[in-house]
Amino acid sequence: MTSALQPARGTRDLIGEDARRHFHVIETARRIAALWGFDEWSTPVFEDTRVFARGLGDTSDVVMKEMYSFADRGGESITLRPEATAGICRALVSNGLTQTLPQKVFYAGPMFRYERPQKGRYRQFHQIDVEVLGSAEPLADAEVIACGWTILRALGVAQDVTLELNTLGDKPSRDAYRAALVDYFTAHKAALSEDSLTRLERNPLRILDSKDEGDRSVVAGAPVIDPYLTPKARRFHDGVRRHLGHFGVPFVENRRIVRGLDYYSHTAFEFVTTALGAQGTVLGGGRYEGLVEEMGGPHTPCIGWAAGVERLAMLLAAPPALPAPVAVIPVGEAAEAAAIRVLRALREAGIRAEAEYRGNLKRRMARANRAGARAAIILGEDEIARGAVQLKDLATGTQSEVKFAELATRLGGAQRPG
Ligand code: ATP
Ligand code: MG
Repeated sequence: MTSALQPARGTRDLIGEDARRHFHVIETARRIAALWGFDEWSTPVFEDTRVFARGLGDTSDVVMKEMYSFADRGGESITLRPEATAGICRALVSNGLTQTLPQKVFYAGPMFRYERPQKGRYRQFHQIDVEVLGSAEPLADAEVIACGWTILRALGVAQDVTLELNTLGDKPSRDAYRAALVDYFTAHKAALSEDSLTRLERNPLRILDSKDEGDRSVVAGAPVIDPYLTPKARRFHDGVRRHLGHFGVPFVENRRIVRGLDYYSHTAFEFVTTALGAQGTVLGGGRYEGLVEEMGGPHTPCIGWAAGVERLAMLLAAPPALPAPVAVIPVGEAAEAAAIRVLRALREAGIRAEAEYRGNLKRRMARANRAGARAAIILGEDEIARGAVQLKDLATGTQSEVKFAELATRLGGAQRPG
């Protein structure tokens, strides 16, 4: 026998409880995003590499080290998407939607990054994602963040996370701040990691986000952006803070949050937790302006976030339970037609029902119990002749004869599952 094949490194199967947690996160987010006025989009899992790697300006780890890029059989360089935002902005332009703004987009799907796998970090993982494309008002920032907060609350994980808010200012603020950072980090060059020396050349703000221990002690003494904010940038940030208050979203300011990708301005934020070890960020996002332009569209201000489904699934207190089924048990072949009639009626009434049709009656009952059924419907020829079945409550063990027509009502029919 050949040795059993395993899933590729950094990927995992979702089965049973893992699958229930996973889809509960996505379905909860989808439901709330719809309530908040977002439309769900879907774009291809792979794109032209240029959608993600845009020129030499991009210094993010994702683009420099983590992309799954390869030449396809036709010699085109394609990339498995590492994030949703770039594809969404590409789709906005490709579909001629830049004239009908704002667009409010919800997204859920798999993402791919070549990373060292560990708890909460995979090579294929999943994100939920919310974007407002084409809105320059601080109210949009607050609404997008508040929508994320509402999803975390609906998942029951809000008490484990803190919203950390920052501003990266507008371009004049950032240019002045960048100059101050370059001065500071140049004076502390000797203590910086190799990666941060590269960042110093290309995007010094990214040093603030470094996870290297040595870098972190240098970063602790680095200047903050506040004295460099223009009055306009300051007003914008104050607006975001005020509207977060109106939405009832608690937050703390953290001047070290810059986000992994390079295109942000003004608002940057993360929901962080201490419950997942090193993988502390569950949801992160910010405001960005140049991305739609880089896809060939007009200058378009946007705000959005992405959250890791795996990390949220791990935070869920308990796996969501499926409603207990009702087991339908025909006794003898002659009862099977009636059993199918009962199954159809129950399912139509919104009751989860399954047939047990193998082995003797004792075996069928044992399987129904094992499946966690709440009731068994036993169909014998005598009862069928009377237009009835035996209904056994598997929790109490009580059994009684019930007419076909009354079955669904007796079992709480039309009650929505879950
Ligand atoms: P990290 O600092 O953990 O690497 P990131 O800044 O690279 O995160 P983003 O690009 O902002 O992450 O993606 C948003 C969210 O997606 C993260 O907050 C996290 O929950 C999730 N995420 C990112 N990379 C992975 C991964 N490799 N495996 C699982 N989840 C991930
Ligand atoms: Mg990362």
